[in-house]
Amino acid sequence: MTELTEDSVRAEVRAWLAANWNPELGLVEWRNKLIDSGWGAPHWPRQWYGRDLPLGLAPVVDEELARVGAVPVAKAGIRTLAAATILAHGTDLHKQKYLRRILTGEDTWCQLFSEPGSGSDLAGAVTRADRKGNVWVINGQKVWNTSAHKADWGLLLARSNWDVVKHKGLSYFIINMRQPGVKVYPLKQMNGHASFNQVFFEDAIVEPEFLVEDTGDGWKVATTTLMHERRGADGIRSWGSGATDRKGRIYEEEKAEVATVMEPYKWYPQRAGRVDLIIQRAKETGKINDPVVRQEIARLLIMSKAAEWTARRARAAQLQGKPQGPEGSLGKLVSSHVARLAARVHTQLTGADALLTGPESPMGGTIAEILVSVPACSIAGGTDEIQRNIISERVLKMPKEPSVDTDKPFKDVPRNIASNG
Ligand SMILES: Cc1cc2nc3c(=O)[nH]c(=O)nc-3n(C[C@H](O)[C@H](O)[C@H](O)COP(=O)(O)OP(=O)(O)OC[C@H]3O[C@@H](n4cnc5c(N)ncnc54)[C@H](O)[C@@H]3O)c2cc1C
Repeated sequence: MTELTEDSVRAEVRAWLAANWNPELGLVEWRNKLIDSGWGAPHWPRQWYGRDLPLGLAPVVDEELARVGAVPVAKAGIRTLAAATILAHGTDLHKQKYLRRILTGEDTWCQLFSEPGSGSDLAGAVTRADRKGNVWVINGQKVWNTSAHKADWGLLLARSNWDVVKHKGLSYFIINMRQPGVKVYPLKQMNGHASFNQVFFEDAIVEPEFLVEDTGDGWKVATTTLMHERRGADGIRSWGSGATDRKGRIYEEEKAEVATVMEPYKWYPQRAGRVDLIIQRAKETGKINDPVVRQEIARLLIMSKAAEWTARRARAAQLQGKPQGPEGSLGKLVSSHVARLAARVHTQLTGADALLTGPESPMGGTIAEILVSVPACSIAGGTDEIQRNIISERVLKMPKEPSVDTDKPFKDVPRNIASNG
């Protein structure tokens, strides 16, 4: 077997693309071809649409696809968290049924974890999963569920056993969102978008084969999903640069995909603070000459660069197969610090006009959208306080927070909302 090197991989992808890439193909048709070749998700197992390529060599494939303008597999959204979870914990049936359609982008997914009474305390979920006859019956409510209004499938954490301690009574299911027992209601946010939903389950059904791992293993599986989410594996942070103005059937279809499926994420660059706009705005507003504002800009750019280098260090360690170090835990927390500081600097640059929206407001309303989107950064995927708890307990090995609800069966834990356990 020839040794895999950057050059050998590059040459192989290049030759394959020269023989196969065609922008006149349909999006799904092309992605199926790419998936069959193993170049769509090359670091995945060979048996499941990949090539067992070391993670460190996967960027070479991306570079080659980008070089010829070839559209990659669907890489953004909660579908990627679904793929990572299914690869780690799913059965062959799950892998067969879902992985290909995740990569083609035909299926859209949502994450059904948070509830009105359990967000940070995710293990306190009270949505019920009861085994009745030969199916699981789901009742309860989830909230904050991004893209649930567009989703075909959901990653569901539900309580299947009330007689054991809280982390042991949860099970993880793949639920069909297109069934009468699932009702989805979008929630309007203060930035005008409606990317989240409330989801109600009224005798919704899950067939037993769509339980992931065993009953009671839900917390273990959910931890995998969360770990990928906190690392930014959903690709959402980098999404937005892929849409092109190139000509060809496939680009038209890709543009349509971005406009519909990715619509809930279009404010995500603003939620990260748009550090990329700061220098341009400082020049436009003349504030680049204000020594006080310049100090703040310098502080922001230093923090942002340091965060980027830390993220690169974490990525490099991951590519070398090293276990996740403190960089991983710090990344999510630092990104919300950067976002908040960026919102402050944007306000200093734009002044009271930062409050204006509409086409005639600063940058067509983008500055105002930054100000009302940034708070999401410190909440989504685990709040800043929760990240600090994780860092203090797992990285710094400080004493654990006192716990009052993990020493008794969950049904005996006092709760502040009605639950029918
Ligand atoms: C943009 C965005 C997208 C999201 N997408 C999804 C999704 O797709 N699916 C999904 O299931 N959920 C989603 N969420 C929900 C998100 O995971 C929860 O909002 C988050 O976990 C916090 O839970 P909560 O809102 O219930 O706040 P709470 O848990 O009620 O927290 C309230 C406050 O108390 C603090 N707090 C709570 N516990 C502790 C503690 N032990 N120590 C110190 N402070 C504490 C928190 O930090 C916070 O400041 C999304 C949220 C956002 C903002």
